[in-house]
Amino acid sequence: MNVRLVKEFRFEAAHRLPLVPEGHKCRRLHGHSFKIELTVAGPVDPKTGWFIDYDIIHDIWQPIWNKLDHNYLNEIPGLENPTSEILAKWIWDQMKPTLPSLTQVTVFETCDARCEYTGD
Ligand SMILES: [Zn+2]
Repeated sequence: MNVRLVKEFRFEAAHRLPLVPEGHKCRRLHGHSFKIELTVAGPVDPKTGWFIDYDIIHDIWQPIWNKLDHNYLNEIPGLENPTSEILAKWIWDQMKPTLPSLTQVTVFETCDARCEYTGD
């Protein structure tokens, strides 16, 4: 029996997109209440009835959250052009080595717009 588990996290941050055309609203400094979904996948242990403790995901996420929350994303190495796409891959790169069961990072920049990254 295989499952996918999804854990949500949130953070507040400012950013601007320096490479969009002059006059584009995203070029101006602004902020988002970002929502992140981290998806892991794997087999359920028949003895325990679970795949992974959600707390493990939380503990791996915590130092990343510390870097992102209430910060200016453009100042973080690797996020000089902090689109949702680049942010999703940046989070993936931070987490995948210590969370090998990670299969998807989803970045919600707004309630109705999100980027899904699966490592490709
Ligand atoms: Zn934005």
